[in-house]
Amino acid sequence: MNEAARQEVRRQAGFRCEYCGIQERHLTFSAFHLDPVRARQHGGTDAAENLAWSCQECNLLEGTNLTGIDPDTGAGVDLFHPRSHRWEDHFSPVGNRIVGLTPIGRAIIWLLRMHSPGQLELRATLRAAGKLRGMAWLPASPRESQQQFSP
Ligand SMILES: [Zn+2]
Repeated sequence: MNEAARQEVRRQAGFRCEYCGIQERHLTFSAFHLDPVRARQHGGTDAAENLAWSCQECNLLEGTNLTGIDPDTGAGVDLFHPRSHRWEDHFSPVGNRIVGLTPIGRAIIWLLRMHSPGQLELRATLRAAGKLRGMAWLPASPRESQQQFSP
């Protein structure tokens, strides 16, 4: 993938992780990655519809997984796919936590450890600095946030 295409995925993601929603500017010492949502070993490609902009932690923890476990039921479910699913249909930010609204949402919250002490501490720090406000700390959809970004 060339740099222009990489930057287009990044821009369309609103300069934030398409899983946990953290903005690049809030993780200045950590790299973001192009995440092949369906890994190459499972037939995924470098086409834009298979790529998500991901923080390092989410990218590493998602790995090549295609499915996860809903921690509420123990059932195996497909994982959240940023190109096929709408974030707000599967997640809701509540305070410093992200609540899974569906089995898909709950499975990836658990898999990506979105409530790890480090993530909760980061969100608490951002909230204390006035950078997370109430329920509106994520846009309605990462793809809709392009106009809201101000470097
Ligand atoms: Zn993330």
